[in-house]
Amino acid sequence: MSFSILASAADGAGTPAWAMLAYLIAGVFFILALRGLSSPASSRAGNRYGMLGMLIAVVTTLVTHDIANIAEIGIAMFLGGIIGVTVARKIAMTAMPELVAGFHSLVGLAAVVVGLAAWLDPASFGITDAAGQILMVSRIELGLGIAIGAITFSGSVIAFLKLSGRMSGNPILLPMRHVINLGTLVAILGMIAANAMSGAGGAGEGQLIIYITIAAFLIGFLLIIPIGGADMPVVVSMLNSYSGWAAAAMGFTLGNTAMIITGALVGSSGAILSYIMCRAMNRSFISVIAGGFGADDSSGGGEAREARPYKQGSAEDAAFMLEQAEKVIIIPGYGMAVAQAQHALREMCDMLEEKGVEVKFAIHPVAGRMPGHMNVLLAEASVDYDKVFELEDINSEFAQADVAFIIGANDVVNPAAKTDKSSPIYGMPVFDVDKAKQVFFIKRSMGGVGYAGVDNDVFYMNQTVMLLSDAKKMVEEIVKALD
Ligand code: NDP
Repeated sequence: MSFSILASAADGAGTPAWAMLAYLIAGVFFILALRGLSSPASSRAGNRYGMLGMLIAVVTTLVTHDIANIAEIGIAMFLGGIIGVTVARKIAMTAMPELVAGFHSLVGLAAVVVGLAAWLDPASFGITDAAGQILMVSRIELGLGIAIGAITFSGSVIAFLKLSGRMSGNPILLPMRHVINLGTLVAILGMIAANAMSGAGGAGEGQLIIYITIAAFLIGFLLIIPIGGADMPVVVSMLNSYSGWAAAAMGFTLGNTAMIITGALVGSSGAILSYIMCRAMNRSFISVIAGGFGADDSSGGGEAREARPYKQGSAEDAAFMLEQAEKVIIIPGYGMAVAQAQHALREMCDMLEEKGVEVKFAIHPVAGRMPGHMNVLLAEASVDYDKVFELEDINSEFAQADVAFIIGANDVVNPAAKTDKSSPIYGMPVFDVDKAKQVFFIKRSMGGVGYAGVDNDVFYMNQTVMLLSDAKKMVEEIVKALD
């Protein structure tokens, strides 16, 4: 969620009381939006609140500021709006994380550009003292805003390239990377401090802001290239958080309350989400940020996997077992999203329930390619929310399940996460599907791997039957067989 930088440039001086009130109301709408987005049932209303809040913030800013060229702004908003609508309509659900990463990069870049503009023309941004020098507090805000913005930009570009497959998702490990990263971060902080101390016109101060920008672009790149495997979701939400802080820092510089509120909301909600995801994956935040987790793993997808015996079944086999079952737990994953199998799956679920079978859905916090990915798809197919359970609420029920029905999930059911210390997903909590009496596993071929690129022992278990097909096709065939 990036409301942030659009809240726009204000000079802070003499903002009328009604505008302050309007910004406050916009802030309340943003808080209602976040609250709404916390549950699939209220997420549409949440989105509407967010849009309304943003409309109030933008209109208030445009009305209260002496904007030289309103026509140019109108054209930019119109073109931006057309691009936004086109992208939103065209984008596949599975490509959403890379789109989000792409948008974060723009927020970061906007923070850098606004910061540099304020630096070059401080008087018109109202950040100078009586002697025409930039206020020390503004120097700190500008330095931090530009640095966080630049880190967000380059980090998000790398995340975009990795998530869209334009760059290998594997960690890229530079020798002594921790020393280099730490050194660069310390240098950036040192330069921000030096920049804050130097008076306007002091030796080398113009260069310092340029060096801060370059070093921050570099550190964003260095921080994200070593992160791979199952840690990418945390990175996306972490960059979301950074983009918020960059906007908040710029809000202080510009004296724009709406920007401070939205930036802080985005920054803190992104940080909380990152923390929740780290907990869900049993990672420490520091180990994700430090990067390269599991990078020494030798069982990655690039390596040829030994052929092991497995059982293969048909839609009819699955239909027969499913209708005999008392309790079925469905575990959807990325492949369900690719195949768009959620509607057929709901139909299958309805038919089983008509036959007296208890059906529940088990959602892993990092299933799919973005937080909440599976919840959104199941909601789209009108699956009742009360049938959908989080990992910690349902994992103990596999022992009583007759069938675990895995559809397009892989990493989130991989027991290597519990047993194999060399696995890139080691430590991530996974569903205990091995406890179910029978497992059906839908994927297209034995060759394909999940996001982390590792083999999965569940394929070869005694009670597992592989259903090798496109997920939608397979579920449609099962529905036919159940009829
Ligand atoms: P995985 O990526 O582990 O596995 C996807 C599975 O779907 C594969 O077995 C693949 O096998 C199968 N598949 C792909 N297309 C189809 C299709 N059309 N029909 C049937 N099967 C298909 O998915 P999970 O959801 O289990 O795990 C998510 C992974 O993604 C985790 O490692 C997570 O860390 C990572 N991730 C999550 C993000 C998030 O925010 N949720 C963001 C970025 C990464 P085959 O090719 O043989 O069909």
